Amino acid sequence: MEEPEAVGRIEPGGVTPTEAFSILGNETRVGILQALWEGEGPMSFSELRDAVGVDKGNFNYHLGELSHFVRRCDGGYELRETGTQVMRAVVAGTITENPEIGPVEAGRPCPFCGSPIELLYRNEHITVRCRNCAGVLGGDLPDGAFMHYALPPAGLADRSLPEVVEAAHVLFEAHVAMMLQGVCPACTARTETDVVVCEDHVIGPDGLCDRCESVPEIWATFTCRNCRYGRRSVLWLVAIYHPAAIAALRERWEFDTFLELQRLLWANPGYIASVTERVVSTDPLRLQVELPAESGSITLRFDDELRVLDVDY
Ligand SMILES: [Zn+2]
Ligand SMILES: [Zn+2]
Ligand SMILES: [Zn+2]
Repeated sequence: MEEPEAVGRIEPGGVTPTEAFSILGNETRVGILQALWEGEGPMSFSELRDAVGVDKGNFNYHLGELSHFVRRCDGGYELRETGTQVMRAVVAGTITENPEIGPVEAGRPCPFCGSPIELLYRNEHITVRCRNCAGVLGGDLPDGAFMHYALPPAGLADRSLPEVVEAAHVLFEAHVAMMLQGVCPACTARTETDVVVCEDHVIGPDGLCDRCESVPEIWATFTCRNCRYGRRSVLWLVAIYHPAAIAALRERWEFDTFLELQRLLWANPGYIASVTERVVSTDPLRLQVELPAESGSITLRFDDELRVLDVDY
């Protein structure tokens, strides 16, 4: 099949980031966006002015300045997609709040050392860490971390902390699934997939490799050059998206949805500890993941862009 021609780099029309911030650095204008966001459908000029509560001349001027965020429509005025995005960021709480929760005990033991695991929420990230051992991640993360995911404060509402962890898992894994298919979850631009293999991987006395400061030797990395969104993932997480892996895991556990499989994996850290990942060859780079199944195991081999080359079961 012939590769379709790329449409090239799209230049966003009109407003620069500096202009956007200067346009929105005004209470009346933010009030207009908020009123349209909260209103049910389009609002007439007078409805909108009453909702914001400023005099007519001033209101008219500020409304006119919002042409990148608000448009005229049949019923009066409504948010453009850019205005909706601004309001979504406000509602997600990434601009307005910085809550902290925990640490609280997670109620299950560390898969590596059996010590209590704790959960905490700081700087819009949820962390699951062991109080005793090195965990998996290392680097700049909290000591003993084996999960550290971004989650906006809105994700905390109406959820217990374990449910927050689950929501963060779902978000992370959905983003990995998108980026595996080359789509940026933040801006939809094309993403790049790379594999990073530690060249001198030796687990030291502190439980982490000195060189790469983590337990896994292999990381899958996904990067968006357009908006700089990026994620890295362990390899087995990529492997479980393969239909053959799902079929093999279904022989081991009963599940009907991908979320049920995810829950089984989160609830069985001992299973995850039994998954093996290794570099089969470096030139060309070939990687292998072995997932224990009901009888024997399923082996998936990947190339350097994480395409599945073959599956043994
Ligand atoms: Zn531990
Ligand atoms: Zn290493
Ligand atoms: Zn992006």
